[in-house]
Amino acid sequence: MVLEKYKQKRNFTSTPEPSGDVKTAEERAKKAKPEQGLFFCVQKHLASHLHYDFRLEWKGVLLSWAVPKGPSLDPKTKRLAMHVEDHPIEYGTFEGVIPEGYGAGIVMLWDQGTWKPEVADVDAALKKGDLKFTLDGYKLKGSWVLVRTGGRWGSGADGRSWLLIKHRDDWAGDVDIVEFAPKSVKSDGDFEDILAADQPDVWKSNRPAKGGEAGEMLAKIIERAARLKAGEAPSQPEQTHAPAARASKGETARAVKKPRAKAKAKTRARRTKP
Ligand code: MN
Repeated sequence: MVLEKYKQKRNFTSTPEPSGDVKTAEERAKKAKPEQGLFFCVQKHLASHLHYDFRLEWKGVLLSWAVPKGPSLDPKTKRLAMHVEDHPIEYGTFEGVIPEGYGAGIVMLWDQGTWKPEVADVDAALKKGDLKFTLDGYKLKGSWVLVRTGGRWGSGADGRSWLLIKHRDDWAGDVDIVEFAPKSVKSDGDFEDILAADQPDVWKSNRPAKGGEAGEMLAKIIERAARLKAGEAPSQPEQTHAPAARASKGETARAVKKPRAKAKAKTRARRTKP
C-alpha cells in the first residue's frame, strides 16, 4: 500500500511530521506531468547522525534516499545514498523539530525545486537501478544520476545502497555545496533557528544524538537555540561556516557557477510548492 512503511514507522500523536494522505498522493499522481518538472527537495536532518534526505516526486509520493555526506557537485565524488521508505508529498516542505521516536531531531529544508527524468521510462530505470535526471533547485542544478550498487545492504532490485553522482556539465564544480550553503531555503535559518522557533529545551534529557560528531553538534545547537529564544545574541558566535555561506539564495547559485546569460535567468530560482 502507498506510504505504508512511512506510517508504520511513525506515531502521529508525537511527531509534527505530516501523516501522509493516500488520496492526496493519488490526485497528485494523476496531475503530474514529468516533462514539465516534478517536485524535488533535500532535507538536512540532524538525527542520531547528520544526513541529507534526497527526495524525488514520483507517482504522487517522494522517493527517498538518505545521503550521509550530502550531495557533491564534483562528478568524481560519488555519494552513498541509502534508499529509504517513500515519504508523502506534503513532507516536501516540512521543516521542524521531531521531539521523539523515529527520526527524532531537527529537519531543515536545505533545497527544493523541480526535477525532470532524462529517461523515457522512470519505473524501468528505478528497477534497473540507474536513474538519470535533471535538477532545478536553488543549490542543486543540472544533470545527475542515482545508481544502485552492491555492497553491505545487498544488491539486485531490493538493494538499498545507491550512489548519487553529479554529471559533468555547467553546474558541476568543486565548491563544497553543503559547507558553502548550509542553511534553509525555506526559513533562511540554521538548525538553531529552527529549534529556537520550537522548544529549545525539548531535549533536557534523552537527546536523539548523544555521542560523536552529531551529539556534539546537537549540544551546541541546543545551547545556541536557548540563547536565541532568550533574546540574547550568542556571545561568541561559532564560526562554523565560511562568510560566503551567508550568501543569499541567488548568490549561492551564481557563486557555484559563473553566470552565463541563460544561467543568470535560471538563478531566479522558482519556488515550487508540492
Ligand atoms: Mn532522515
